[in-house]
Order: sequence, then structure tokens, then C-alpha cells
Amino acid sequence: MKANVRPVLYSKLPNNGTTIFSVMSKLAADYNAINLSQGFPNFEASPALISLVEYYMRKGFNQYAPMIGVHSLREAIAQKTFELYGVQYHPELEITITSGATEALFAAISAIVRPDDEVIVFEPAYDSYAPAIELNGGIPIYVSLTPPHYTIDWEDVKGKISPRTKLIIINTPHNPAGSILGPNDLNELANIVKDTHIFLLGDEVYEHIVFDGEKHHSLISHTILQERSFVCGSFGKTFHVTGWKVGYCLAPADLTVEFRKIHQFLTFCTITPVQFAIADFLKTPDNYLSVSAFYEQKRDVFLKCIKGSNFSYVPSKGSYFQNLSYSNITKENDYDLAVKLTKEIGVASIPVSVFYHRKTDYKTLRFCFAKDDDTLKRAGERLAKLK
Ligand code: PMP
Ligand code: GLN
Repeated sequence: MKANVRPVLYSKLPNNGTTIFSVMSKLAADYNAINLSQGFPNFEASPALISLVEYYMRKGFNQYAPMIGVHSLREAIAQKTFELYGVQYHPELEITITSGATEALFAAISAIVRPDDEVIVFEPAYDSYAPAIELNGGIPIYVSLTPPHYTIDWEDVKGKISPRTKLIIINTPHNPAGSILGPNDLNELANIVKDTHIFLLGDEVYEHIVFDGEKHHSLISHTILQERSFVCGSFGKTFHVTGWKVGYCLAPADLTVEFRKIHQFLTFCTITPVQFAIADFLKTPDNYLSVSAFYEQKRDVFLKCIKGSNFSYVPSKGSYFQNLSYSNITKENDYDLAVKLTKEIGVASIPVSVFYHRKTDYKTLRFCFAKDDDTLKRAGERLAKLK
């Protein structure tokens, strides 16, 4: 008898393997290296926040949350957003809680992008944007930013806009660059989009991690930008709980209607007791306003060890990542060096080339400094010895 035919699954993402974050974290574990690769804290969240989750779990808040998110959390986000950026988002109509910013990004891109639409993506780029665009039939159009400052050349952006441009994705503070946009950037962006049908997607998950007295300039704070923007946030970053995967999306009501049509079939809703707990925790603004100073100190602990070494760098301006250029140390490519440093000196990092679609190698590694001071010092001392 003839064997049954087995279907062949042709990949929708033929150029994507397992993400670099999983690869490097596994390598770090296999070689017992200090893991400064994948971005996550190695310290605990506030005990008060954990107690709140326990409280709501024990009180029986363990069934499905409303599809759009728990009311008290949407209220708290509306309040925080108004206080920080002066814009009132309606908790019923304009704020949606998602399972991490990753889901929010995917839902927003799916709501906007149709086959053959072009999307401007600044690279180095966080790795989830391009697959989300491509799964929706869109085409990423890359604008390259280069180290050490990763500033945007807005003339370059203008040159890449076409009648098919549907969306521009903005990430500030930027992962992996550690750069932030200023008011001039927002004005340039507004001049480009103001007479077009281009939407904006703001990935602002590091909004509460900005250093040296600088301020986070949200798309929300600029009227022309705000009214065409989906802006995503993540409590994983702000409250040191990346494993909880609770994020949100702010968007004007008509955009939110379409966003929710996708969100309801992606995850429907997000973990209930954690939403109640975060809502309570947000009532104390210091819980998020203190995060910048907390991480600035960590950046400085790490850089103090690196100072005087053969690495060169510009101090990170935001996010919990610091890039180090090693071109004074070796000509090796960044991927091989990241693997070698993990195995040989026991410090894992992310090669920044993975965030460029052509894997452009600027001899730069990304280090996550969301670690306790002792870990940062041990890693920094090992790195500083490299000649
Ligand atoms: N965007 C950027 C720039 C990030 O660094 C991350 C964190 N990995 C995300 C989005 C996703 O956030 P979340 O973990 O809340 O899904
Ligand atoms: N955002 C984190 C980083 O950039 C990792 C997220 C993930 O593991 N997918 O390292």
C-alpha cells in the first residue's frame, strides 16, 4: 500500500530561526556564564507588588478579565498618562491591556498593515517588528542608524517614504541602541507625516528608564503624532517583572476599535490578579518615577568597571542596555565574539548585528545592566581585562 502523503509546512518566516535572546540565554546557562544578554532583571520585584498579586489571587480574582482589561488598571494608566504627557485617554475606548507589549505590537501591526504596504523600520530594530509586518504581507523598509549615537537622519527617512508607506515604527528609548528621541525628532516626524495617511506605532516600553536628567518624549506629547499613533507600554520593564507579560496599547477610539478586533482573537484577555495588583501599585507614582534613577545607578556601576578598558562607548541614554564597541580589541565578527566571550570569560551579551536585516557588523555588543551590582561588577571586571 502507498504510504500516506504527509503535508509539507512551508515556513511563513523562512529567514527566522530561534530568537537570539533564547540562543544566548541558553548558551549562558550551558557555560554557567554571567548572563547580560537577554534583557531581564536578575533581582526581585517589589515585595509589596508580589503581596498585591497574592491578595487578589486569594480573593478569587482568577477568572477571565474583561477583554479590554481590568477597569481599575485602565483608569490608573489613563491617570498616569495624563499626568506625564497631558493627554486624556478614555479608559473604556482608548486603552487596552495586552499580554505584554509584544502582543500589543503584533495587534497594532495586524490592524494596520495589508499586503504590499510598506512600513518604515529603524534598524537596529527590536526583533518582533519585521516578522509581524511580514506575516501581514507588508514590506519592512529599513532606515539604518549607526553607532555610537544612532541618531536619525530625517532626510533619509523622507527619501524612503512612498505612496505605499502605511506605518512608521518608533522605538524610544531604543533597544538595543540605548538612544532616545528629542523634541526636534518629533517635530521632524510630524512634518513628514502631517499631510499623509501614515500611521505611527510607538514602542515606548522603556518610557520610565531615561537617564542624566533627560525626559522621555512620547509620541503622545505631540498632537499631530498622537492622533495617528498606537503607543505600547510594558509593566514587565517598569516593575521588574518581565515574566508576567502585562502591557498595554493607547490609541484614539477609532483606532482602538480595530486594535481590539485583533486582540480579542490573539489572547482575548490578560492575567486577572496581576492587572488588579498593578492598578493598585500605580497609585504610588514613585513606584514608576523612581525607576530611571535606579537604572542610572546600575548603568554607572557597569561603566565604572569598563572605564579605562579597551572598549569604547557612549553612555546609554535610556533602556537597560549598554552597547560597547570592541573595534580596538579584535576584528572578529560580533556574533562569534559574543559566543566566545560567553564560553571563555563567562559573560554573555547580544551581538548588535542581529538587529540589522543584513546583519551589518559594527563591532558592537549589547549588555543588559538590569542586574544586581555584584553581578555587574563581576561581569565588568572580566570584560575590562580584555586587551
Ligand atoms: N519592545 C522592546 C523594544 C523590548 O525591548 C521589549 C522587551 N523584550 C518588548 C517590546 C516586549 O515587551 P514585553 O515583554 O512586555 O512583551
Ligand atoms: N526585550 C528583551 C531583550 O531585548 C528580550 C525579549 C525576549 O526575550 N523576547 O533582550
